[in-house]
Amino acid sequence: MAREWRNEATDMVEEQIVGRDVKDERVLAALASVPRHLFVPTEHAPSAYVDRPLPIGSRQTISQPYMVAKMTELLAAQEGMKILEIGTGSGYQSAVLASLGLRVWSVERIESLALSARKRLNEMNFDANVIYGDGRLGYAKNAPYDRIIITAATGRVEPEWDRQLARGGILVAPLNVATGNQRLLTRENLEQGFRNTWHDYCKFVPLLTGLD
Ligand code: SAH
Repeated sequence: MAREWRNEATDMVEEQIVGRDVKDERVLAALASVPRHLFVPTEHAPSAYVDRPLPIGSRQTISQPYMVAKMTELLAAQEGMKILEIGTGSGYQSAVLASLGLRVWSVERIESLALSARKRLNEMNFDANVIYGDGRLGYAKNAPYDRIIITAATGRVEPEWDRQLARGGILVAPLNVATGNQRLLTRENLEQGFRNTWHDYCKFVPLLTGLD
């Protein structure tokens, strides 16, 4: 496994991501470079590079590789930008963002996940700050952010996220829409107001209230 993970990651990118509609070369390179098997529990390491989300404990999941790539592409981020992530989970998405040269702050409401993601990212030298807190409030201390990514399904864009998004900034989130479906939303903070654009249908665990 350890010996071959780079091949597995390269195949994952070719088969699951390039084959669909993700074209941004930097995003593809980032997904090929992050050892996804180190972000899942040992018993799931052999399936780390397959085309689906996987359990990471506390009834949460690491997102499907394609979904990580798609959301990262939609962020259209540049090196050095500040990004806020809501829903650290395993820390995998944070690692992908950090490897693109973004300055990452990521909020997680389950303490055990926040602690293990922080430790894992540190040990692997990914420069990302993990905060234990309720992400519905964003992380005002460090605002504004050039980009915000929400990795749990939400019924609405929280007012604090709008407030903490820089002018010209972009937020990407899975929104609950009619009939129990979820759809990716990009929301741009433009001079004339916020502009929403709808993308793929998706399936994320729910954004929850308060701390655990
Ligand atoms: N980005 C993660 C996957 C996210 S799964 C990865 O790469 O592994 C969604 C995560 O959002 C879960 O860990 C869940 O605990 C967290 N979450 C749910 N509601 C939250 C909230 N209000 N604030 C912060 N995190 C939240």
